[in-house]
Amino acid sequence: MRVLVTGGAGYIGSHTLVELLGQAHEVCVLDNYDNSSPVVLDRVRKLTNGTVTAVEGDVRHDNTLRDVMTTFQPDAVIHFAGLKAVGDSMTNPLGYYDVNVNGTLALLRAMDEVGCKRIIFSSSATVYGEPVYLPYDEAHPLNPTSVYGRTKMMAEHILADWAQASGGTAVLLRYFNPVGAHASATLGEDPADVPNNLMPFIAQVAVGKRPYLNVFGDDYDTPDGTGLRDYIHVVDLARAHVAALDYAADHSGARAFNIGTGQPYSVQQMVAAFRTASGQPIPVVVASRRAGDIAAMQADSSRALSEMGWRATHTLDDMAASTWAWQSGNPNGFQSEEG
Ligand code: NAD
Ligand code: UDP
Repeated sequence: MRVLVTGGAGYIGSHTLVELLGQAHEVCVLDNYDNSSPVVLDRVRKLTNGTVTAVEGDVRHDNTLRDVMTTFQPDAVIHFAGLKAVGDSMTNPLGYYDVNVNGTLALLRAMDEVGCKRIIFSSSATVYGEPVYLPYDEAHPLNPTSVYGRTKMMAEHILADWAQASGGTAVLLRYFNPVGAHASATLGEDPADVPNNLMPFIAQVAVGKRPYLNVFGDDYDTPDGTGLRDYIHVVDLARAHVAALDYAADHSGARAFNIGTGQPYSVQQMVAAFRTASGQPIPVVVASRRAGDIAAMQADSSRALSEMGWRATHTLDDMAASTWAWQSGNPNGFQSEEG
């Protein structure tokens, strides 16, 4: 298939490009490099020996989209482009609605103009909000607690209405906690500022960039008192997009899928795994709970297995070891190549 990948230079997008090229799909990336760099695409080209057409532009711009759609004529779109920091979304709600919701609207309009009927969307487990029950299945009520979560829920609704009206297909992938890096250690997560997320923070402590990890609360109602999350290796996540493309080829309408492992780990377990993988001490300090955090999240991903034939195969050790290989091999991320 010819696949337009918005936000393809980002963390999850770049790993997905590798899997798409590995399955002989043709790819075109649209990215404004707001949170990434063209260097990433060079790494993908090197790694795969594949062709990656790239257009620098904003997913909200109708003219850019029209040009890309008419030139590339995609069979499907994978829509990663968006803003993803929960804290920033609370202080900049309009910016988040603009990129995440208006960006999705603009993309769908442009797809309609060329008759492209399939889209795979980066949604998030955060659309569920405070758990009514765990593990979350896809029928769990949607009650996001942040602006970021609401942008994802709104985009899901728009995609579902579009699919219904147009006869198109929208696959809504609700990611749990993506971590890890490509086995080559040439691609990985490269946060621009102080990492908000646990795994990149631990990695920066391990490599000596930060003195210790703050553990946000050890008095939750969990076995060791620290928060439980369903971490998913980014390569497994990337493969879920390939499975979703196959699914979209012979289904119509909108369908949501949880993308996790079903096996949650605590902050303490993540630190322990990283100590083993890196051989580094990783000092921790117990701090107060982070506002808005919930105790535990866990995916029921059985729908993704039964309907798309997808399941996660990477272990916790794979997540920690690949993150360490990436972080220690690229202590400044992609920066050193940007000139
Ligand atoms: P990322 O920031 O690494 O990648 C996003 C990419 O989109 C970047 O390359 C960025 O430059 C680009 N982009 C941003 N705004 C753009 C715009 N207006 N026009 C064109 N390009 C734009 O993030 P990621 O972790 O790879 O996440 C990809 C998607 O998955 C996002 O939509 C995010 O909300 C979603 N998601 C991420 C996580 C996570 O924890 N990483 C979890 C759930 C969902
Ligand atoms: N966490 C932590 N210290 C950090 C970052 C995160 O203790 O510096 C904890 C956080 O409270 C949660 C877990 O690690 O229990 C995962 O947090 P992350 O931000 O990675 O994901 P999310 O909260 O979005 O699920």
